[in-house]
Amino acid sequence: MFHSARLTLTAWYVLIIMVICLLFSVAFYHVSTREIQRLINRMSLEQQVESSLSPRELPPRPRNAPSLEELRELKHRSLVSLILLNILLLVGSGTASYFLAGKTLQPIKNMMAEQQEFIANASHELRTPIATLRAEMEGSLLEKKISDTQARALIRSNLEELGTLQELTNALLQLAHFNVPNDKVLTEKIVIKQLVAAARKKISPLAKEKQILITTHVPNLVIHGNRQSLTTALVILLENAIKYSSSASPITISAEQTAKLVAIHITDHGIGITKTDIPHIFERFYRADKSRSQTNGYGLGLSIAKQIIAAHHGSITVSSIVGNGSTFTIQLPA
Ligand code: ADP
Repeated sequence: MFHSARLTLTAWYVLIIMVICLLFSVAFYHVSTREIQRLINRMSLEQQVESSLSPRELPPRPRNAPSLEELRELKHRSLVSLILLNILLLVGSGTASYFLAGKTLQPIKNMMAEQQEFIANASHELRTPIATLRAEMEGSLLEKKISDTQARALIRSNLEELGTLQELTNALLQLAHFNVPNDKVLTEKIVIKQLVAAARKKISPLAKEKQILITTHVPNLVIHGNRQSLTTALVILLENAIKYSSSASPITISAEQTAKLVAIHITDHGIGITKTDIPHIFERFYRADKSRSQTNGYGLGLSIAKQIIAAHHGSITVSSIVGNGSTFTIQLPA
């Protein structure tokens, strides 16, 4: 499909270039040969008149004046040169257009490959809970009799799987939602202290469960953006900090302002991230092997956070030492 699109685009490029070149060549040929044609016409007329005169009556010919044949030859040569030039342009523009069409289509090709990979990953993640649900229900149907306790256990397990499905579809929807940059929604005045407090409140049950203390050092700073989405980004980072830390391990949130940026740091003392994983953790569905085996998740949180921060024209970075913890830093325009 990519190849045929490349050929079509090449054909369009060549067509446009050749139409312009041909129009230009016709105009150029017309203008440049007009004078020659005029001379030819005049000389033909003179020849006709001269043929009716006796040699003695003939006026003297200027010395370097071109003959009629030479003029005709000159006109013919300009036509051949222009045709050759256009053929050369056709070949040159064809090659250049093919190359340019490839370059133009490359980002689309990459995007399509990315999208296909995303669909494959999403389907893969959705398949597991659906398959479990189905297997459990089919297993129960095969039983001749189900006791009340068994039925309740089945419903509880089904609900768990449905919860997983719900979480995953919510994450996918968030990805789709924050994928569309919309500057109109980035105009709320946000006090960072309030933003951090809102995010803290949302994850406090999770922190309590693991007896994790969250300390904040946030001065009075203000940015402009979308409160709801920035809270979502902070919640994602805080959830991860809790998820990838052992019980009672402290977490710190701090913020500071430099000349043009406001930076928010979230520091944990958890498992840390290896150097090989760091470049990939913001990719969709990426999970470090250790996380895969030890915690629940889909590898979508950080890509959602990154999308939100990018929509705010900011950046998100991480520094980490395995076994010592990680610091995620969000930088936003002040
Ligand atoms: P999830 O947490 O659902 O796996 P994320 O996109 O939020 O997905 O994170 C991607 C990966 O980055 C995680 O699987 C984990 O390996 C790593 N990661 C993210 N945050 C932390 C953290 N605070 N400490 C250690 N590893 C982390």
